[in-house]
Amino acid sequence: DHLISQIAAGEVVERPSSVLKELLENAIDAGSTRIRIDLEEGGMRLIRITDNGCGIDQSQLGLALTRHATSKITTLDDLERVATMGFRGEALAAIASVSRLSLVSCTRTAEHAWRISADGELTPDALPAGTVVEMRDLYFNTPARRKFLKSPPTEHAHCLEAIRRQALAHPEISFTISRDGKESHHWPADDAEGRLRQVLSDAFLKACRTVDLGNDLLQLRGWAMIPTAILSDREAQHTFVNGRYVRDKVIQHAIREAYRDQLHGSRQPGCCLFLTIDPALVDVNVHPAKTEVRFRDSRAVHQFIYHALKQVLAASTE
Ligand code: ADP
Ligand code: MG
Repeated sequence: DHLISQIAAGEVVERPSSVLKELLENAIDAGSTRIRIDLEEGGMRLIRITDNGCGIDQSQLGLALTRHATSKITTLDDLERVATMGFRGEALAAIASVSRLSLVSCTRTAEHAWRISADGELTPDALPAGTVVEMRDLYFNTPARRKFLKSPPTEHAHCLEAIRRQALAHPEISFTISRDGKESHHWPADDAEGRLRQVLSDAFLKACRTVDLGNDLLQLRGWAMIPTAILSDREAQHTFVNGRYVRDKVIQHAIREAYRDQLHGSRQPGCCLFLTIDPALVDVNVHPAKTEVRFRDSRAVHQFIYHALKQVLAASTE
């Protein structure tokens, strides 16, 4: 089973930022309002996530590290309408099989916290309600994989990007980031616009028009750059479907098409767009890393985004 976990880990745990993504999703699923992230050496030496969420009960703590132990799906029906970010119950087990993973957690009703160490030992601990997940020495036991990791600055940049995506999707959560022992970012809870400013920049926001259009089936909210305000060739595009960061060809193509007449060459407009769609009309379980989705009716999604952006761009040139 350890071997199976390590194989599965290859899909889920590609690099530190993929570990971070899974741990952040768990913290968010737990209803946290404050998340602290400590990174050392680009997350290769340490990723520590401290949250103030619901915590894990002592009886579940050992289980949380076993494959397919998920508290989030109880029926097949749930799979159809996945409301939470995580639902496969294999991330922690996969991470535990390729690193030294320990958890300290305390539920709101527990008398004290419990720690489960990397070797599975359960001991009493002290912690306010919430969870601390600590991953050390990624790939210490699989040196072949370690060779594929890049330099600490590169891995750190990937980690920051993973945090930015979650922070944009969850402005109601405060995020604090520390790098090699020094606090680098603090983003207090804010509204969506304030969070965009914190995470991307005031200049990014100023270059954008707000997008807020919808019908019975689909809704698009966020910010898209005014063509004349685009500064660099490849501005950042952040796209989300039902609160989950995605990289999707249909969405990317619709954006490109909408800007086609106003942008020459391969210039990429910056945007931060949140698409809301009936969960039954989108399949999020396409890839373990879950940044891909499959729409039941991708033409309808494409047309909707295209027309929504066209409308916004038309208004911005008036
Ligand atoms: P999944 O998220 O797919 O359920 P994971 O392997 O990521 O699977 O996590 C296993 C289980 O551990 C979760 O279902 C959840 O019950 C628990 N868990 C993990 N991280 C946290 C956290 N930060 N706070 C509360 N519960 C957590
Ligand atoms: Mg998870």
